[in-house]
Amino acid sequence: MDIPRIFNITESAHRIHNPITPEKLATLGAALRLEAGSRVLDLGSGSGEMLCTWARDHGIVGTGIDLSQLFTEQAKRRAAELGVADQVSFIHGDAAGHVSDQKVDVAACLGATWIGGGVAGTIELLARSLRPGGIILVGEPYWRQLPPTEEFAKGCLAGSIADFLMLPKLLASFGRLGYDVVEMVLADQDGWDRYEAAKWLTMRRWLEANPGDELEEEVRAQLSSEPERYAAYTREYLGWGVFALMPRAR
Ligand code: SAH
Repeated sequence: MDIPRIFNITESAHRIHNPITPEKLATLGAALRLEAGSRVLDLGSGSGEMLCTWARDHGIVGTGIDLSQLFTEQAKRRAAELGVADQVSFIHGDAAGHVSDQKVDVAACLGATWIGGGVAGTIELLARSLRPGGIILVGEPYWRQLPPTEEFAKGCLAGSIADFLMLPKLLASFGRLGYDVVEMVLADQDGWDRYEAAKWLTMRRWLEANPGDELEEEVRAQLSSEPERYAAYTREYLGWGVFALMPRAR
């Protein structure tokens, strides 16, 4: 049980598997006014950078669940490295349908909303683990500029223009789901570069270290085409942000 191997290759050197930077992750942690001992659940926790740094900086405790065995191992190593292994735990597994035994103060899913079958389903899933007054965090793309044609959406590796909204519409959609947007931290193009361009050096080094691997051609092709595709499409058209939500009182 794991994610497709190509992601474990291209993102093996990433600490954060999203266009958010360490600085913005820290900004988000501060913006949420986390208190020591706050409990955080992270579905699709990747290499655990959010939980580990927030445990170090704010004294939170938490659990992350991720389908990548490699990323989960990296998360555990990072926790040990930052001296927070007694505060955070990382579980290798499918987070679909996961509800925590104990209610949490913050329930998060950053850049993995397919886990709940989309944004609405993921918010519903996270809400099942949330204590009253708690905060849901959703990390999700939006259109920074509307793609002029479907071709541009495909260039961004989206299925179609309809896959994402413009930022005002995305914010309004949370309201329609019954949530107040209480904070947000948005990625920028430099953050996209850290996420996307970091894959290129990783791919280049992997190719040198793994001649004859069954994914050699695929990685070679990606390394050749990705810089131009990324600069033409994703970098210009796709935004990304983390949105903090609280259910509206009835
Ligand atoms: N939130 C992390 C990782 C985002 S990348 C960060 O911001 O760094 C998306 C993550 O979702 C990957 O780590 C991938 O392994 C994980 N993932 C994909 N499908 C999953 C599933 N069904 N259950 C749990 N994790 C999943």
